[in-house]
Amino acid sequence: MKKWIFGLIILLLLDFGFAQHKLKVIDKKSTEEDHQAPEVTPVKNVLTIQVTKDQIHKGNLLLVNKDHPVPSGDEAAEAVNLSQHEELLNGFGLLDNTIKLSPSLAQKFTTMVEFAENDGVNHFLISSGYRDEKRQEELYQQMGADYALPAGYSEHNLGLSLDIGSTQAEMNSAPEGLWLKANAWKYGFVLRYPQDKTAITGILYEPWHFRYVGLPHSAIMKEKNFVLEEYLDYLKEQKTITTTIDHQSYQISYYPVSGSTTIPIPANERYEISGDNIDGVIVTLYS
Ligand SMILES: [Zn+2]
Repeated sequence: MKKWIFGLIILLLLDFGFAQHKLKVIDKKSTEEDHQAPEVTPVKNVLTIQVTKDQIHKGNLLLVNKDHPVPSGDEAAEAVNLSQHEELLNGFGLLDNTIKLSPSLAQKFTTMVEFAENDGVNHFLISSGYRDEKRQEELYQQMGADYALPAGYSEHNLGLSLDIGSTQAEMNSAPEGLWLKANAWKYGFVLRYPQDKTAITGILYEPWHFRYVGLPHSAIMKEKNFVLEEYLDYLKEQKTITTTIDHQSYQISYYPVSGSTTIPIPANERYEISGDNIDGVIVTLYS
């Protein structure tokens, strides 16, 4: 009798264990089928891209300051004289007829000022855009080291920055300056030399100097109150961060690059890559 009960308990335990096991298997299957969890993505759906050292010096996130010169290359060579390109002059004026900007940056600026116009802010003026190294050297000689950077160390030589003015007042108090300070991040621009970051940037407060870095970077920098130096340090430290802006999710990762580096990218996902102009690249996945 006792043996029989013992045997039954063993059977029950075995059966229970088996049922548990079955349950687990079913669970796993349904997870794979229903949720398409990223961790079970088969290896074949991941592409790899080869990144070489020259990529460190290309892209929208390049850090240019007194320690990191503008890389040599012809990216900024596409800058055109805006006064000779009426099709690019929409919603803003020019301080003079020497101002140069790449058509793509002019277009991004136009998009931004169109939104400002909707808010009744519409007296924008570009006072400086792309400057070649010869022009920068002239400025440096004229202004001196306290007010200008040597040729090759100014963001204006990079072609992603512009000085924006207002026909109404100084940018510090003009509606144009206040609007940009609050809204430029939505269009990929950042105030590059804020008042509270002079110790980090090494540059005095410039309420007129805006730099294009693109979304989602400008949004994260605004949210965390980071200048570019801090943002790149943060990415390097975190290695990967994620964020969601306007229902779009992004995964941003930093990779050091020495020699040829292989980076995995999920297939069918849009991505962008930019160097930091120091020692690595930032890959932004639109997931
Ligand atoms: Zn400037």
